[in-house]
Amino acid sequence: MKRIENIVCTGCSLTCNDLVIDIENENKIVNVWGSCSHGTKRIKEMITNRLKGSETNIEKAIERAVEILSSAKKPLIYGFANSSNEAIKLGLEIARKINGIFDTPPSICHYHIPMIEEIETKKLTFEDVLDKSDFIMYFFVDLSNTHLRHASKYAIYPRGEIIKTGRESRTVLMVDYWENDSMKIAHHKITLTPGEELKFIKKLRRTIADKKVVSGKDVWLTIESWLLLLDDIKKSSFISIFIGNHILTNIMAAEIYREIVKLMEDIMSIGLMSTLIPLAENVNSMGAAIIPYKMFKATHAIDFNNGNPVYEPSITNAAMKLLNNEVDAALIVESDLYTHLPLSIARKLKEIPTIYIGEKRTLTSKIAKIKIPRSILGIEDGGKVYRTDGVEVELTPFINPPPSIESEKTILKEILQGIR
Ligand code: SF4
Repeated sequence: MKRIENIVCTGCSLTCNDLVIDIENENKIVNVWGSCSHGTKRIKEMITNRLKGSETNIEKAIERAVEILSSAKKPLIYGFANSSNEAIKLGLEIARKINGIFDTPPSICHYHIPMIEEIETKKLTFEDVLDKSDFIMYFFVDLSNTHLRHASKYAIYPRGEIIKTGRESRTVLMVDYWENDSMKIAHHKITLTPGEELKFIKKLRRTIADKKVVSGKDVWLTIESWLLLLDDIKKSSFISIFIGNHILTNIMAAEIYREIVKLMEDIMSIGLMSTLIPLAENVNSMGAAIIPYKMFKATHAIDFNNGNPVYEPSITNAAMKLLNNEVDAALIVESDLYTHLPLSIARKLKEIPTIYIGEKRTLTSKIAKIKIPRSILGIEDGGKVYRTDGVEVELTPFINPPPSIESEKTILKEILQGIR
């Protein structure tokens, strides 16, 4: 039996880098140590429900994918939130070469990146939070459902260089639409009714800026609780803000996100350190937004016209393009459109030739004409991804994929080279 240490988990966007894996006979995973239940599930269940190729061999599958994409007028290139940075770049190159639409699943990063770029702020990481942050604010996220080790590995419990006692020296505020399970660890918890978000954040901003509780009745906190919250804020030196995806379905999501950016600016304007980090949905949701932004100044929903990017997200997004029957083929990489889009829109995929590259069988793969299995990212395939705080992380594969299964990079590279 061989033991491998410091494996990076690809179970969520935290990419914890401290997993230990025991392997028998070169390729059989027998033990996984250090991961949360989501990480363990990803590794142990990776071979169940594995996608089977639709063609006799991979060369044939790539040839057919090239034919479909080359003859389409406006193909949709979609997915990539669970892909490596290298694959995301290839996806963008394919979309540009064939004048297609490049889009990714809904993500909090689509708001974060352009808004954070607009302001002058030092980009801080989880390590800065761990070492120095004494007040942690969570907005619209239930850690116990999504980012299981955030509190224990990066933010609340661990001891840092300056915060030497960990949990005892950190105050926690949690704000969400319901009393979620992770609120048990919060000193201050606030539940909002949808529609109240801006009002609440504005009141919190004024309380911080004026260093006194703003008068006026509200249902969120009693005056005594507001005073306690303000007292804890005044005692702190570094307030970290984390925001999750519970606002994604809210039509005011952009305004709410902008108000939270202003909250961070207000905190800094009274002389405290602060940072704002999104807790992204998938392992590389951050990369799937950063890379197009770096290349084309747009995080998603890019319509290429004669190789030039057009970014009008309300009309150039995958849902609108499918709804209006504007796309005539689709290449989807490790993403289940049926879970992101209304059924009536996702069903439109049945009417066009669809190519699916992925690890597992999904509703989208079921309706795909061409299915191409890829090796499993972070387990059988390496590459780089962006951790949700924007730090680039290297993934190292530790077992081999079955014969004839290629990495997404190889598949996409061959498709890119093949298309005319
Ligand atoms: S918190 Fe995320 S990255 Fe860390 S072990 Fe769990 S699933 Fe893996």
